[in-house]
Amino acid sequence: MESPRYVVVGGGPAAASAARRFAEAGQSVAVLTAEPLPPYDRTVLSEGALADPPAPIPTLWPDDAPWRDHVFVRTRTRVESLDPDGRTLTTDDGTTWAFEAVVLATGAEPRRLVVPGADGPGVHHLRDAEDATALSAALASTQRLVVVGGGVIGLEVAAAAVQRGVAVDVVEAGPRVLGRGVPAPVAAWLARVHAEHGVRIHAGRTPQEVLREDGLVTGMHLSDGTVLPADTVVVGIGITPRTALAEAAGLSVDDGIVVDPSMRTSHPAVLAAGDAVRMVGGHGERGVRLESYTAAGRQGEVAAAVAMGGTESFDDVPWSWSDQYDATMQAMGVPPPEAREVVVGGPDSPVVLSFDGDRLVGVCGVAHGPGVARPVRAAAGAIAAAAAVDVEAALAAGADLGALARVLRDAGRR
Ligand code: ADP
Repeated sequence: MESPRYVVVGGGPAAASAARRFAEAGQSVAVLTAEPLPPYDRTVLSEGALADPPAPIPTLWPDDAPWRDHVFVRTRTRVESLDPDGRTLTTDDGTTWAFEAVVLATGAEPRRLVVPGADGPGVHHLRDAEDATALSAALASTQRLVVVGGGVIGLEVAAAAVQRGVAVDVVEAGPRVLGRGVPAPVAAWLARVHAEHGVRIHAGRTPQEVLREDGLVTGMHLSDGTVLPADTVVVGIGITPRTALAEAAGLSVDDGIVVDPSMRTSHPAVLAAGDAVRMVGGHGERGVRLESYTAAGRQGEVAAAVAMGGTESFDDVPWSWSDQYDATMQAMGVPPPEAREVVVGGPDSPVVLSFDGDRLVGVCGVAHGPGVARPVRAAAGAIAAAAAVDVEAALAAGADLGALARVLRDAGRR
């Protein structure tokens, strides 16, 4: 293979889709990833990969696609430095790579729990396939698990563990679970499902110390004085974008590699996409970090297209989901915290419409089974257009999620 013109750094959906876009255009591309696997789907790590038996971890490329010939993957390879002006980078094996443009899709690092006892065996963070394998193995011999953080990751891990017969406590610093981005009625519904499965949620408390005997975890001391017995701890308290490489290269960084909606960084030879970026423009002054699997994939495509001289930009409405037990939660859009909320749907399928004035800016719902996918996905057009919604009709739809989907789809067409 000729020496690649483009280089992609990373191993998730942004890297995978950037490489695919280069390759589909007939351009040779090198993908450098620190992990032992080619880019794979991380979303299963807190769900199926923790089940017994574990679900396989899907790779993000079909093996037999003709464009694969243009992609050169180097696993277990860490990029150590980047010289944007010289258009080169060096990897930890001492190789220097020249490029016409590089896409940084370096992802994010799990935030660490910093309390006494948190370092050492029995305390798990969850970000890559290796972490999931280690946690899954630990769950096989765990009686009592404490999950720190009641966000999406923490709750998915709680669901997976309790379904394997492990007793689970969730410790959440905020006043309720899913405080970041999920409307209260949806979060309360899911919290109730967790309680029905025996998961105990301790909100408004933080860990003070991980207790150990002979080095092994025995429990956790909480800020209110409670001691929860535990033999394993999982920490899911959010992520920090991996920006060290970009920062050392002199790129603009602000809790994320700063990019415009065309995924351009502050240097023309460098683009960036996915969890590592903060996208400025169109979303308020400081921009947004989306932390969304689907957004990352689209951002990767845009970055590659723009690197090749195209003029695309990211304007998707972010869409995300979480599967816990037999329930599916889905969200479309990123409503600001001050958005006005209207609860529609049924008692067992709450759907929250978020408005800025009378303009729809987000929809989030949850139900047993995949039913909420219909209204949530139907709202994409209305949210993209910041359209008004016939709220009376949405309320009248009641528990009929198909009818609610029609109301929301119509709103996007007007
Ligand atoms: P993730 O994607 O990892 O689930 P989120 O930011 O959505 O990340 O959720 C993390 C949750 O962890 C939030 O609800 C936050 O309030 C909670 N949290 C953060 N720090 C602590 C802490 N020290 N103890 C308990 N909960 C915490």
